[in-house]
Amino acid sequence: VTEPDHCIFCAIATRTGPAEVVEADDKAIAFLDIAPATRGHTLVIPRVHAADILDIDPDDLAHVAKMAQSIAKRMPSALGADGVNLLNSGGAVAWQTVFHFHMHVIPRYLNDPLRLPWTPGEPQFDHLAEVAELLR
Ligand code: 5GP
Ligand code: ZN
Repeated sequence: VTEPDHCIFCAIATRTGPAEVVEADDKAIAFLDIAPATRGHTLVIPRVHAADILDIDPDDLAHVAKMAQSIAKRMPSALGADGVNLLNSGGAVAWQTVFHFHMHVIPRYLNDPLRLPWTPGEPQFDHLAEVAELLR
């Protein structure tokens, strides 16, 4: 799969775009969602561009899933999370808005107000660095 021009997540994967990265290896990279549904909301993507769940190489998908588990395991101690939602949206009708495959890892907190689907708010530049540090 060739990398399309102007893919925001390819830019993050190649480190030509900014992101608060919390874990990375040769196949996948995990970084904070810029407009988090809850504190610590993380996205895990394959380094090789794939549009969605139908397009992604199965080995890359397995690798993304393992990294999602790695991040999820840190959330109780690092952030005080009480649970976690893993979410993937495939296609515009399923709420996908960025067409480079990504797995949402959304920490959940007792009595948090999150209802799915959430409405993304404003980017929270002030808080991302602090939260990423906790997860690294
Ligand atoms: P989707 O709706 O496609 O499942 O999720 C896209 C997610 O990407 C949204 O939660 C949105 O906040 C996040 N997002 C969009 N643009 C950027 C960006 O430039 N940087 C980061 N870190 N997250 C982004
Ligand atoms: Zn891409």
